[in-house]
Amino acid sequence: MAECLLRRRGALSPSLASLSRIAVRLHPRRHSTSATAATAQPNDGIRSTHAYPATPSPEKASSTRWSALRSAKPFSEFLTDTFNRQHDYLRISVTERCNLRCLYCMPEEGIQLSPQPRLLTSPEIVYLSSLFVSQGVTKIRLTGGEPTVRKDIVPLMQSIGNLRRDGLRELCLTTNGISLHRKLDPMVEAGLTGINLSLDTLDPFQYQIMTRRKGLDAVLKSINRVLEMNRMGAGIKLKINCVVMRGINDREIVPFVEMGRDNPIEIRFIEYMPFDGNKWNEGKMFSYQEMLAVIREKYPSLEKMADHKNDTSKTYQVPGFQGRVGFITSMTHNFCGTCNRLRITCDGNLKVCLFGNSEVSLRDVVRKANNGEPIDEAVLEELQLLNTVQTAARASDNGDLVNPRERELLDIIGMAVKRKKAKHAGIGELENMKNRPMILIGGVSYAGQARFYHQHSTDAAEAHARSSTNADRKEKAEAESALPTASDPDLPHLTPSQNVHMTQISQKTVTPRQATATGRVYFSNSRPWDSLREGQGTHKGDVYSVARIAGIMAAKRTPDVVPLCHPGIGITGVEVDVKLLEPVAEGDEKMKYGAVSIKATVDCLGRTGVEMEAMTATMGAALTVYDMLKAVDKGMVIGGVQLEEKKGGKSGHWVREREIGH
Ligand code: SAM
Ligand code: SF4
Repeated sequence: MAECLLRRRGALSPSLASLSRIAVRLHPRRHSTSATAATAQPNDGIRSTHAYPATPSPEKASSTRWSALRSAKPFSEFLTDTFNRQHDYLRISVTERCNLRCLYCMPEEGIQLSPQPRLLTSPEIVYLSSLFVSQGVTKIRLTGGEPTVRKDIVPLMQSIGNLRRDGLRELCLTTNGISLHRKLDPMVEAGLTGINLSLDTLDPFQYQIMTRRKGLDAVLKSINRVLEMNRMGAGIKLKINCVVMRGINDREIVPFVEMGRDNPIEIRFIEYMPFDGNKWNEGKMFSYQEMLAVIREKYPSLEKMADHKNDTSKTYQVPGFQGRVGFITSMTHNFCGTCNRLRITCDGNLKVCLFGNSEVSLRDVVRKANNGEPIDEAVLEELQLLNTVQTAARASDNGDLVNPRERELLDIIGMAVKRKKAKHAGIGELENMKNRPMILIGGVSYAGQARFYHQHSTDAAEAHARSSTNADRKEKAEAESALPTASDPDLPHLTPSQNVHMTQISQKTVTPRQATATGRVYFSNSRPWDSLREGQGTHKGDVYSVARIAGIMAAKRTPDVVPLCHPGIGITGVEVDVKLLEPVAEGDEKMKYGAVSIKATVDCLGRTGVEMEAMTATMGAALTVYDMLKAVDKGMVIGGVQLEEKKGGKSGHWVREREIGH
């Protein structure tokens, strides 16, 4: 039915000759992007002369064996977060511009576009893509703004498509479909495997209201074209994204579902989400449960389908329909537990969560190689950037020293990934959080935001530096002066110009390191001792074991509470010992009623020590003891938390001279 509907609206058919040409070229590619063969079959026959230089030929020769090795090795530590989520899916925003003005996305007052030099160049996008693929990213989605309005989108896709030889399996696009039909053929030739096409209404007048532009016919033409190419064997996964807003397009839910009667399309209904400037309110949000009820009223047999592990949508099907129905329930049910996505904004910031406001600049690190200036094709070749990524990937796998540029980038990426939270905020919090407008989850930063700035991020400068070139230069200089240089040898968290920074550890060697810290919780009356001593009280076991667990958790969370501590240092073990100490009648006033003693030992295999982790573990355990006993003794004192011993690293073995007894 949908196809008839699309045809009725005047979509053009491509010539059969051109379709069969595409189909013939597509077949080998589909094989080459399948899980096992993707990396083994570089497809030179389809490479465009416009594409940026691909991985150089010596690597090419060994790419088959290399790819096989890659798939056998453990997933990159840099892309694995503290909840063991492995991020193999990268979304890259390639432009801030858009040819539509969707109500729910673009602030009504519009957005100010960034000066061109702030945005990633295509060679920079290819370089970063290559770096992420070298670490295990298998899926890249280009988005925006509207990616098809980027002038060199096709050559860019050809270059990224070339990364299939290094392990990329899927190259996808999210688009409003307005000009897709004009670029679709070369995109498919470049390796496009999936399209998410945004369409919120099938009514041309409503379309104009929702997008503030005309264009439904062009979108339908794009959909038709994809379906026709698929009938010729193109194998493009097509999903239609439909944001449902109450009172605006909720009555179109059933017509959208019916598009799937005769077409293998997945219609995904998205809960309306709040972003800066989109005037979200809960009343306008049409929830997943409500959408389900609307569909079930007409199609009570709607069935739940099995979802893939990393799917963000819950999938259903009306029996007998070719297509499926999905729901993206970002507002009512988060899918954070299996999130495998990272985002790069079009100004080159890495964003680990769509709803998080923390970002780190990768662009600034990449550009260091070119004195802070944008990297064009000539510089990319001159600096052999794609080559160095490959070399870095190999060195990292062999345990060799990775060269400083890639090492620094990987460290920054790793730190940001390790900071990713278990889940994003929910309704009640999200709408009050500062975030970019959706169209700029790809663009601008805002002043006054409570957000985390990594030392390399120039967001703080960018927040103000849009209009004045003087301000621009001044802030750029300030941002650059904050980049880490050397450390003060006595106070390594200060640069020689007294700026606070996180010390640079990329050149340090990875060695086993260990640190032990101790501390006590002194009682101020006899009740804690009475309830904890052997054979007395019912919660003794609980206090000890909960305190131990708290200590272990605290060690792992140290970088969250100690700002300049390095995250992701590769903790290999945490031992927390919690003991009851008897009261001492004379000579030690603090011990009059006894105490709990805590000893925490942390081991790691890394570039920096774990002293802070051991101390934090001790404090975490001590606070838990206090928390669990405060009902019987609010006067307890946590004291004597100190480092006892540290081993490993350049400064070697250190032991506290005076034993405090444990
Ligand atoms: N211009 C392209 C497009 O429209 O598909 C790509 C960028 S657009 C920002 C990416 C997706 O975000 C679209 O599917 C759009 O429907 C969705 N989106 C934007 N704002 C949204 C909001 N407030 N709530 C839910 N989804 C939103
Ligand atoms: Fe443009 Fe896509 Fe945003 Fe609509 S949703 S304004 S098409 S970027």
